[in-house]
Amino acid sequence: MIAVEHLTKYYGDFLAVDDLSFEIDEGHVYGFLGPNGAGKSTTMNIMTGCLSATEGHVRIDGHDIFDEPEKAKRLIGYLPEIPPLYVSETPEEYLRFVGEAKGLRGSVLREQIEKVIADTRIGDVRGRRISALSKGYRQRVGIAQALLGNPKVIILDEPTIGLDPIQIIEIRDLIRDLGRSHTVIFSSHILSEVQTICDRILIIARGKLVAFDEPQNLERRLLAPSEISLKAEASAEEARKILSGVAHISEMDISGMDTDIAGMDANGKKENRVSIRVRTDCSDIYAVSRSIFFAFAKGGRPLLEMALKKANLEDVFLELTDNAAGEKDRDEDLEEEVED
Ligand code: ADP
Ligand code: MG
Repeated sequence: MIAVEHLTKYYGDFLAVDDLSFEIDEGHVYGFLGPNGAGKSTTMNIMTGCLSATEGHVRIDGHDIFDEPEKAKRLIGYLPEIPPLYVSETPEEYLRFVGEAKGLRGSVLREQIEKVIADTRIGDVRGRRISALSKGYRQRVGIAQALLGNPKVIILDEPTIGLDPIQIIEIRDLIRDLGRSHTVIFSSHILSEVQTICDRILIIARGKLVAFDEPQNLERRLLAPSEISLKAEASAEEARKILSGVAHISEMDISGMDTDIAGMDANGKKENRVSIRVRTDCSDIYAVSRSIFFAFAKGGRPLLEMALKKANLEDVFLELTDNAAGEKDRDEDLEEEVED
């Protein structure tokens, strides 16, 4: 459906998109995930023909976005990061204006406007000035204009940014609905959002594609193996001996606990307590924790605490983008928080 080939973009000397290549197939919801400044908006602006590339190609259904812009653009609906809404107009007037610009006329235009108003659920505010609408409604008007002309692909740049939690849920539901009838690509710097809506995730950092996979596969890549931390009433040697009989432990780290914290037993003898961290390569972390539980019971040493830390997509994301996110981007994040 969309082929992006060796896309590169320089702003002056600054390399914002670095030799990006990927393909988008029909019928999926793609999440374009990356920290602020990763190059998401730049890539989307190029993919939609709003910005020129320094090098590389974008083909929409075989049509080059630069050589055949009209044919290519007709297949895409785009909601930019800052949508050009005309705040003195009503949603209905605005949609008519955008529809005409997309070449729709007469009854086709009227039907299309009704359809996108219904799809984005803005019927109750259709006659109000856009300036009087909440940010959530404005964002829906922006999505409605992207849907005009019934394009196959909908591209949304950070559609939930700046919305309150309820509006965010509503927009996410809307994106999910759109995914039933369109190919959807939306960007976000929030992992959990992408994880819940998308069936394909592209992770971009410093203009480079660092991962492209289904959410489950990304989790399975488990860059950080699953970890279990334990506290047991045992000496380090006893704990080591007990754990040596448990399968699937790839690493263990045993340390004696502070003796001041360790209690006394009934005879006033100091008890041994150890803190243990084990790592496992087994995908079923509960199977491992069960074995550990029974091994300690069998060894006659009580387990006092057990906590599981499953590696998740968050770990993968942080690891993939960690070194890529520069100081500058972190500063931008801080500014955003202050504004909020
Ligand atoms: P994202 O959408 O992932 O936050 P952008 O594509 O907006 O990232 O920006 C990528 C990088 O390019 C950032 O470092 C940004 O500061 C820089 N950049 C974006 N637009 C311009 C521009 N018009 N001129 C110069 N630098 C830009
Ligand atoms: Mg952006």
